[in-house]
Amino acid sequence: MTGARLLAVLFLALASLARAEPPAPHVAIQPLGKVPDHVIAAIREKLGALYHADIALLPARELPVSAYFRPRARYRAEKLLDWLARETPAGVDKVIGITQSDISTTKDDIPDWGIFGLGELNKRPCVVSTFRLGREVVVAKMIERTGRVAGHEIGHTFNLEHCPTPRCLMNDARGKVQVVDDSTGQLCPDCRAKLGPLVRE
Ligand SMILES: [Zn+2]
Ligand SMILES: [Zn+2]
Repeated sequence: MTGARLLAVLFLALASLARAEPPAPHVAIQPLGKVPDHVIAAIREKLGALYHADIALLPARELPVSAYFRPRARYRAEKLLDWLARETPAGVDKVIGITQSDISTTKDDIPDWGIFGLGELNKRPCVVSTFRLGREVVVAKMIERTGRVAGHEIGHTFNLEHCPTPRCLMNDARGKVQVVDDSTGQLCPDCRAKLGPLVRE
């Protein structure tokens, strides 16, 4: 092989390396307590439609007592995140806890505020509760909302902040289920651009 041809081969090899997609992150769904199969299936489907990720289902676990908030008989979301961060098996890049129980966190001057979900920027765990998403609506509506909230919270773990674009999935719901319902259910072009190769075409 001549020197020039060798260089050309080397260049092609490097070019194909540069084009290679990074490996898809491993996302695990962690049911906490009893969660219906159709809820799990909806989360799996929505995350798979939004993100280029390998999605697996972990065996259900009981909600940890360490997160129970006795005065309001519900679970503190940030403590669930701590527990998920500790308990999730190695090799899982992101984990989404899902529960039918009510979850809450501190918001501004409200010490214990019931929420749909919580996820921290660029961290491993997030958590979603169906408790506030299924009130006075048919199951199909609750399922759609749950998929959207799951897509939103996992988006935070992929470093997406709240987005000002109207109806983007990453809008801050501020506790209003109407924001979830009014969303397109999709990421806006700005959020998609931030995700890079993680975004599903
Ligand atoms: Zn959010
Ligand atoms: Zn957006």
